[in-house]
Amino acid sequence: MTDTLSQAPSSATGASARIITEIPGPRSRELHERRVKAVSAGVSATFPIYAAHAHDAILEDVDGNRFIDFTGGIGVMTIGHTNEAVVQAVSDQVSKVTHTLFAVAGYEPYIQVCELLAQHTPGNFAKKSVLVNSGAEAVENAVKIARKFTGRTEVAVLHHGYHGRTNLTSAMNYNMHPYGTGFGPLAGSVHHAPNSSPFHNGLSGAQAAERTITYLEKRVGASQIACLVVEPIQGEGGFIVPAEGYLQALVEWCHANGIVYVSDEVQSGMARTGTYFASEHFGIEPDLITSAKGIGGGMPIAAVTGRADIMDASHPGGLGGTFGGNPVSSAAVVAVFSQVEKHGLLAEARRVEKTLRPALLALQKKHPVIADVRGIGAMLAIEFVDTVSGKPAADVAKAVQTYALDHGVLILTAGTFGNILRFLPPVVITDDQLLEAVAIMDDALAAL
Ligand SMILES: *Cc1c(COP(=O)(O)O)cnc(C)c1O
Repeated sequence: MTDTLSQAPSSATGASARIITEIPGPRSRELHERRVKAVSAGVSATFPIYAAHAHDAILEDVDGNRFIDFTGGIGVMTIGHTNEAVVQAVSDQVSKVTHTLFAVAGYEPYIQVCELLAQHTPGNFAKKSVLVNSGAEAVENAVKIARKFTGRTEVAVLHHGYHGRTNLTSAMNYNMHPYGTGFGPLAGSVHHAPNSSPFHNGLSGAQAAERTITYLEKRVGASQIACLVVEPIQGEGGFIVPAEGYLQALVEWCHANGIVYVSDEVQSGMARTGTYFASEHFGIEPDLITSAKGIGGGMPIAAVTGRADIMDASHPGGLGGTFGGNPVSSAAVVAVFSQVEKHGLLAEARRVEKTLRPALLALQKKHPVIADVRGIGAMLAIEFVDTVSGKPAADVAKAVQTYALDHGVLILTAGTFGNILRFLPPVVITDDQLLEAVAIMDDALAAL
């Protein structure tokens, strides 16, 4: 157990899964006992293991077990765990200025992040940003800004969407039960419209857009809506890629009706899908974009970026907070952007798809319980449907997840029915690691 990642970080690049204790191992079990006594039961524990070190796509637990990490801290570690440039940028910044509160005394990294976001988000127009701490806070701020800009109150979202766990964003989530149960009353003025999901309803983009728009026009009234908040690829909903033309039709409808179109790219943004932001795949230029998870290379930071006139709608002091865009997190974002350029990480995300998609399609051929393989770039998923009943097979997703854990692969479930496995690996994951993980899923399905 001396062969740890901390002693030889780069040696873990390309490493295989390695399980040397029962799962969870003795040290993880010890920590879990302490956790149960000290940590609120409201914080869930997907895996019973505790992390000690991580590098690139490998996470090592406190018992020395090595896992191929398909979760990346839920799509945060896009550029890889403990990327050397991010670690260096964070260490340099922390000893220069750790905190001032940007509104009290400014600093360059905050401005650099806003410049980089303006440069790399879709849309050839003047853009501005505000930096905050979490994805949910970014979504909250996008709604605030859109309300102030339009003078309207109502917020539209889509079925199977996910936007966070604050009061407003809980109200915006589709899967309210069980996540929001008992926490009410939740914010009002939120309207859930049907989405586009070719696998689930077979509607074309035009048909699905007509259904969404008709619902909002009849139920709410276009003139009442401040913003429509949409994930270009629904994350928690199960990597639902909308039909061609759907998002474009929604953007056109928003613009014809004075509605601010907000693209929630907290999960799909920052190189995840082989472009900086997934909106690019659909040829749309959102008015506002929220980003968080992948932008900080593991440091907590989030942003709302968009049209300068909309972003300037708030009076001074209306946006911000104590820690928003703190210098250390901002320095990490600057390093992430430069790493994406320097190491061609957009192309790496496309390579992940090129290796993983055919492997998943081959798996589907062998195991017909896999009803769909979908996603873009390093954001792919498989959906399990019972071949006899046609019902979502959450038990299969769970069984494969557990088998994979025991054999050294961390995989997250997703979807309103929990019957989807989603793959959000760091884009620096090697082809060998991808194929090793798929082989373990193959064994898991064969063992069912
Ligand atoms: C994770 C997520 C959020 C919430 O982000 P937090 O940082 O957890 O608050 C919002 N929107 C989407 C699309 C997400 O995936």
